[in-house]
Amino acid sequence: MDFALTDDQLAYQQTARQFAQKELKPNSAEWDRNSHFPVDIIKKTGELGFLGLYTNANYDGLGLPRLDSAIVFEELAWGDTAVAAYISIHNMVTWMIGEYAKDEVRADIVPRLVSGELLSSYCLTEPSAGSDAGALTTKAVKQDGEDYYILNGEKTFISGAGSTDILVVMARSCGSGPKGVSAFVVDAHSEGISYGKNEHKMGWKAQPTRTIHFKDTKVPAKNLLGNEGEGFKFAMKGLDGGRINIGICAVGTAQTALETALAYVQERQQFGTAIAELQSVQFKLADMLTETIAARQMIYLAAHKLDKKDPNATAYCAMAKRMATDLSFKVANEALQLHGGYGYLNEYPLERYVRDLRVHQILEGTNEIMRVIVSRKMLTEDSLNGLR
Ligand SMILES: Cc1cc2nc3c(=O)[nH]c(=O)nc-3n(C[C@H](O)[C@H](O)[C@H](O)COP(=O)(O)OP(=O)(O)OC[C@H]3O[C@@H](n4cnc5c(N)ncnc54)[C@H](O)[C@@H]3O)c2cc1C
Repeated sequence: MDFALTDDQLAYQQTARQFAQKELKPNSAEWDRNSHFPVDIIKKTGELGFLGLYTNANYDGLGLPRLDSAIVFEELAWGDTAVAAYISIHNMVTWMIGEYAKDEVRADIVPRLVSGELLSSYCLTEPSAGSDAGALTTKAVKQDGEDYYILNGEKTFISGAGSTDILVVMARSCGSGPKGVSAFVVDAHSEGISYGKNEHKMGWKAQPTRTIHFKDTKVPAKNLLGNEGEGFKFAMKGLDGGRINIGICAVGTAQTALETALAYVQERQQFGTAIAELQSVQFKLADMLTETIAARQMIYLAAHKLDKKDPNATAYCAMAKRMATDLSFKVANEALQLHGGYGYLNEYPLERYVRDLRVHQILEGTNEIMRVIVSRKMLTEDSLNGLR
């Protein structure tokens, strides 16, 4: 077992850090303040391969392992949480299309998603189907002899919506429950699609979140991913990797919060001394570092399990997402506390880190649902076999 990063991993890490340092971090506060989605900057990451990190190299992706991809996402999130998280969602969608689309559709769309010519959104959640996504009601109907489906329904909380070009939409086409769900590649500019307002959110202001309405939207039959009834399975496969990404984006933010706090406590004088001299502050710093490293290592472990196609990979991804997002939120919140009142001002980045990180405990499956996945595995399958 070797915990050191390889030369390749170090090179990707350095490239991502340099990009984040130059293009993301200096602009992050302004994008947050103005709710600006920096599409041009996101497209630029395509030149580095960061829009198709784990997409198959046959379709211009870098074809990296999930672990290497996580290393890149962490550095991007160190620069801007909301932008990195959107890039991670785009990677998830690009991978899904690369894996499951028909050859013709895949060859047409995936290279353009990888280059950044097209941006994408993942459309699972509905107003009445959040955690219980298998109960979704958006319908896809195909009449005998027709070569298209008609989509009707509503997707809510969709990241990037209104600014993206390609949607992967999970819709009911063949019966009730998760097995009746199919997944479709949908042109986001199709007739019959309309978008709600950009939601006013606590954080993630540098990316839009909108409801999408489908009214008799025609989708070519060839845009079905895999076969009918496989859509929920594909959606969950996408989310295994997605949860690693959301978890490591949280770690990247915890890391920058920790670095900011470490510098601050050595400068800030109270009671005639730097507050770093106070043992309670030192203990806080020690816990913050310990927890940041623990979160990162748990993500690396889950990514490794996914790369190795371990049968317990889904449970590891759920454990890692839950733990990394909870610990990272705690670290960022402690970093804010160490800044005292200044941490609460938006002249400093701490309040933004805390606001941005809060949603990582909610989306791509809430942290309660992560516990459902893990405990179900422990109680209903083969106990702790393979889980250690
Ligand atoms: C900013 C943002 C961006 C998002 N982006 C996307 C996106 O791009 N695409 C997309 O499809 N979705 C997206 N989502 C949706 C997100 O995945 C859902 O909000 C999330 O899955 C929870 O669903 P819900 O909001 O309906 O909450 P609910 O499912 O109503 O949950 C409410 C509460 O009940 C708890 N709960 C529910 N069921 C259980 C259970 N069985 N056991 C224990 N507790 C339970 C939950 O944990 C939660 O605390 C986004 C959400 C946000 C806020």
